Parts: sequence; structure tokens; C-alpha cells
Amino acid sequence: MSACPLPIIGAAIWSAVMDRASQSREPAPGSVFDGAPAAQCECSWQCGKHAGARCTHTHGEYRKKGGPIRLAAAPADLTIEGTAAMRLPAAQLLAWCPPCHTAAGKAARREASAAAADVLISAETLF
Ligand SMILES: [Zn+2]
Ligand SMILES: [Zn+2]
Repeated sequence: MSACPLPIIGAAIWSAVMDRASQSREPAPGSVFDGAPAAQCECSWQCGKHAGARCTHTHGEYRKKGGPIRLAAAPADLTIEGTAAMRLPAAQLLAWCPPCHTAAGKAARREASAAAADVLISAETLF
């Protein structure tokens, strides 16, 4: 096991998320895939890459760099972290590939801090 910066979600929930992510594949699994369909990253452009479409990365997919893709189960709302993230049900988790998880996490935190700044500004203008 290598060090993993992602929230550690229980194995049962991880499997539930990956099952959903493999059954909802787009396009549907075809003859090019052997055996059970692999889970597909459930990012639908939260990361700001792969414009407007669902990410095509699948669990175990070969990459030129960094070894095979390992999908992680992490909150759909990536501003939720730590123990709060671990308590979420599978329905509030998405299967994320590492590049999407990183990029979408940055975007979510940027939006959250921008929203916090807005609140601050409007509070300041009140007085
Ligand atoms: Zn992805
Ligand atoms: Zn993505």
C-alpha cells in the first residue's frame, strides 16, 4: 500500500460506488472489454477538463505515466473532507479518477472560499 491522500472510505461503500460506476458506463461496455465492466470515473465536468462530458477513465485503465488508474470513492461535494466524508452514504459519493479528483477538489475549494469571501464582503457592507 502506498500513501493515499484520498479520504479512506469503507470497503463496502467503495464497492457500492464502484458497482454503480460500472453499471452506468457511457458508452455501455462492449466487446472490447473482457469480463465484468470496470468502474468509470463519475466526474461530469466538475474538474473543468473533458468539456461537458463524463470522464472516460476506468478503474485499472493503463496510463503511460503513473501506473494504472485507481478510482477512489470520494464525496460528490469535494469541500466535504475527513471524518464528515467518511460518514456519507454511497449515494453522496462519486467514483473519481485521480486527475479529476485533484482538479475538481481544487475547483470546489476555490468556489467555497470565493463564497466565503462574498459573505465577508456583504457582512462588511452591512455596517
Ligand atoms: Zn475522471
Ligand atoms: Zn473530470
